[in-house]
Amino acid sequence: MATTETHSGAVLEVDLAAIAANWHALRARHPGGEVGAVVKADGYGLGAEAVARRLAGEGCRCFFVATPAEALALRAVLPEPVIVTLNGLADAAAALAEAAITPALASLGEVAAWAGEGRRRGRRLPALLHLDTGMSRLGLDQAEQDALAADPSPLDAIALRGVMTHLVAAERPDDPLNAQQLARFAAARARLPPAPASLANSSGLFLGPAFATDLARPGAALYGINPTPDRPNPMRPAVRLRARVLQVRAVAAGASVGYNATWRTARPARIATLAIGYADGWPRALSGRGAAYFDGEAAPLVGRVSMDLTTCDVTGLAPVRPGDWAELIGPHAPLDAVAAAAGTIGYEILTGLGPRIARVTA
Ligand SMILES: *Cc1c(COP(=O)(O)O)cnc(C)c1O
Repeated sequence: MATTETHSGAVLEVDLAAIAANWHALRARHPGGEVGAVVKADGYGLGAEAVARRLAGEGCRCFFVATPAEALALRAVLPEPVIVTLNGLADAAAALAEAAITPALASLGEVAAWAGEGRRRGRRLPALLHLDTGMSRLGLDQAEQDALAADPSPLDAIALRGVMTHLVAAERPDDPLNAQQLARFAAARARLPPAPASLANSSGLFLGPAFATDLARPGAALYGINPTPDRPNPMRPAVRLRARVLQVRAVAAGASVGYNATWRTARPARIATLAIGYADGWPRALSGRGAAYFDGEAAPLVGRVSMDLTTCDVTGLAPVRPGDWAELIGPHAPLDAVAAAAGTIGYEILTGLGPRIARVTA
């Protein structure tokens, strides 16, 4: 792990070897098909470039991002692999074609626009076709799927590389929506020209062989988020979040800590102030919930999390000094547990971590 000594605030340590190990573990779960990597939102906040370079080196040949801007940034560092924009064309057809990006076309209008872009360039451009089977978010709706089944000729003008859909509730294996979407996807594909299929996200890879396709699209599990929330986490943790101690102060019994005096000491206490706050994406919802860890010893978070600072009670711990590092996410504070304490999911915690937090890769 690279040194964190030069950082004065908070540091997110990203374990690229763990991410690579997670990708290989997911491949082992999907032996009949390819496994890509979702690196949207800057690789779920960990750094898309570093993650994608590493996974490309491991043999990953397909990366998924959300927006055209993310796709172009990734293309600048990875000339070879397939890069898919999950948000579709997003009015950027010319730039996407120029950079050899594969959009996941989300409507018949986008199919026509991509075909037109190809005609201008004298060749059929590669694309996935995104079918909506229950998310009601992006993708061809039922009426558009019916229209395309009746007349698939619009597809003749593009190089169709695959058909995809996205699961609504893959992390809940007993949810009947999973089987329903599987059936809808199979029915829709049967009415369209043959093309490779792409279905599973991280959790979908744990739903059994029926959910295997030609190309899986895991994101969260690569980064150590538990794809099976009701069971122990099968993935390797890939991040550690640490924040510097700025001050340690002795506080008298009965003194209040932080905005609105939401917490008062019952006894003389030692309060450590950490260089991280909600402006860094460290949730204000963690006010008075959870803990910072010093050498594995828990220091409960006390008082309100403020914009740039978080306070914790280090009374009774081995001496904590300014310049020490507190673990906020890591072996003692698993990401999913921190997220649950904040009333959210690991995805939101990771993607919310802001630019003031230094990313350090190992
Ligand atoms: C974000 C996303 C994924 C990855 O989902 P995870 O749960 O992070 O594995 C896959 N497909 C689509 C369409 C997505 O938007």
